[in-house]
Amino acid sequence: MRLLFMGPPGAGKGTQAMRLSAELGVPQISTGDIFRHNVAEQTELGQAAQRFMDAGEYVPDEVTNEMVRARLAEEDTRQGFLLDGYPRTVDQVQTLDEILAELDQELDAVVVLSVDSEELIARLLKRAETSGRNDDNEDVIRHRQEVFKAQTAPLLQTYEQRGIVVEVDGLGDVDEVAERIVGALAAADKS
Ligand code: AMP
Repeated sequence: MRLLFMGPPGAGKGTQAMRLSAELGVPQISTGDIFRHNVAEQTELGQAAQRFMDAGEYVPDEVTNEMVRARLAEEDTRQGFLLDGYPRTVDQVQTLDEILAELDQELDAVVVLSVDSEELIARLLKRAETSGRNDDNEDVIRHRQEVFKAQTAPLLQTYEQRGIVVEVDGLGDVDEVAERIVGALAAADKS
């Protein structure tokens, strides 16, 4: 199974991706988590990413693409993977296509979690109380929604044209949404 998880910040991508990757036995590759880990460890990659993350901007494509290329070259992705939060730009879509072509692999589905934007902001403000993330404050939260709308939402069309988008309503409790995702993938004959 080779899946992408897409959706605006706060849609529950990370939570759902973690559950599904455990269920399917494939690694979850969250670019946000990898960046946060590198920021915490103060690696060179972390230093390159931090100011963009803190401002709610995307980390430059060259940096992000190189990181994903290296991750997808690792052995544990051979049987499949679940990419969470990548690709987010036109350039990243092209790079992912190239990487997968080199590996002779294809995506099975793009899971899109849709949630109303005011609900997203409310969720992120709640998460901010406990997450300790520098980018969970109201201004940056609102900015991240705008960046998503401008740069990432239009990418869905590309995957829709390929007929691999599975859209799931992200509103509801975690178990409910997880069931919907599994049901939608089965209905689309992707699992
Ligand atoms: P996330 O945990 O997915 O919300 O990502 C947190 C932050 O990491 C984003 O706001 C970006 O600054 C950065 N980031 C994560 N994934 C990407 C990506 N695919 N392209 C560029 N920046 C990213």
